[in-house]
Amino acid sequence: MSARQPLAPWQQRIHDHAADALDAGRLGHGLLFCGPAQLGKRAVAERLAERVLCLQRSAGEGPCGRCRSCHLLAQRHQRDPVETRPDGQLAHPLGHSGHPDLVLVGHVLNEKGRPPKMRSEIVIEQVRNLSEKLALTTQYGGAQVVIIDPADAVNHAACNALLKTLEEPVPGRYLWLVSGNPARLPATIRSRCQRLEFRLPPREESLQWLQAQGHDSGDALEALEAAHGHPGQADAWLRNEGMGLRRQVGTDLDAIAQGTRTPLETAQRWTADEHAALRLRHAADLAVARAAERLTDPARTRSLAAWFDQANRTCELLRTTVRADLAVLELLMAWRSGAARSEARSRPDGAG
Ligand SMILES: [Zn+2]
Repeated sequence: MSARQPLAPWQQRIHDHAADALDAGRLGHGLLFCGPAQLGKRAVAERLAERVLCLQRSAGEGPCGRCRSCHLLAQRHQRDPVETRPDGQLAHPLGHSGHPDLVLVGHVLNEKGRPPKMRSEIVIEQVRNLSEKLALTTQYGGAQVVIIDPADAVNHAACNALLKTLEEPVPGRYLWLVSGNPARLPATIRSRCQRLEFRLPPREESLQWLQAQGHDSGDALEALEAAHGHPGQADAWLRNEGMGLRRQVGTDLDAIAQGTRTPLETAQRWTADEHAALRLRHAADLAVARAAERLTDPARTRSLAAWFDQANRTCELLRTTVRADLAVLELLMAWRSGAARSEARSRPDGAG
C-alpha cells in the first residue's frame, strides 16, 4: 500500500496510538508489529517512519510534507518496489528504500542460485549490514528507522546478531519488526520489543471499508464471510480470482456428490495451475459450512469434519514431492463416497 492512500480505519487507530506513544517517549526502539497478514502492518510501520524521519515536524503534528526527508519518501511511493516474491508479497532488498535513513530488510534474491531465486530466509549478512549502518551517524542528522519484514523469516544465526542490536539501543534509532507469525520469533527477541497488535476490525467497519474500495455491497459481504471477517483477505479475493475460485470449488463439490462430474477430471483441473492450495483451503472451509447446515445428520457432520482434516492434510502434501493430482484425487474420491453414504442414509427405506 502506498503512503499516498489513506490508512484504513483500523490502521489509523493503531497508527495514532503508536504516534502518541512515540511523541510522549513511551515507545522504546524495538517495536513488533504483529497480527494476521494483509491487515496493513507494513503500511502503518512506513507511515510511522515518515513521522519520525521528518526533519521539521511540529510537536503533536504529522510529517511536514515539505522537508528533504518527506520529499524523498514521497518520491519513493511514485516508484514503488518492483520485486515480488512468489507468494505475492513485496520484497525490498536491503537499503533500497530511496531514503538513506530508512533501511528495509526483507527477502532478497540469492544471486548464487541458478537461476537466481528469492531466499526464503533473512540471513546474517543482511542483519550485519544493518547493524553497521545503525552504528554510523545518520545521513540527514535526524532519526534512523530499520523495518524488518517478515521478521519471522530471520534465521537462527541472524536472530543472534539482531538480538545484539536490540540490546544496545541508541537514541533516535528504531528497529521495527513486522510479523504475521510472531510465535516463530525467539522469546529473547520478542521480550525486547513492545508489541503493536493488529486485530480483525468490527464487521461493520470492514464492510464499509470494502465498499470504499469500490466493491459491491453484496460481493463485500460474501467475501468478508468467506474470509472469516478479514477485510484485507476479502479485498484480495475480490480483486484477484479468489472468490470466483471459491464458487467454482463449491460447484465442483456439488457436481461430484451428484455424480455429474468425476473426481479424476476435477482433480486434474484443480491442480493444473498455481491455485491448488487455495482451492483446497476453500474446499475445507466449504465443508465446515456444509456441516453447519447438516446438524440433523450427525454422521454426515462427523464425516465432513474428517474430510476437513483430510483437505488440510492434502494441502500440506502439496508442498512435498507427492504428485498433487493424485493427492487431490484421493481427497475428491473421499468426498464422493461421503456424499453417497449420506444420500443412502437419507433414503426413505433407511438403508445405509
Ligand atoms: Zn518533513
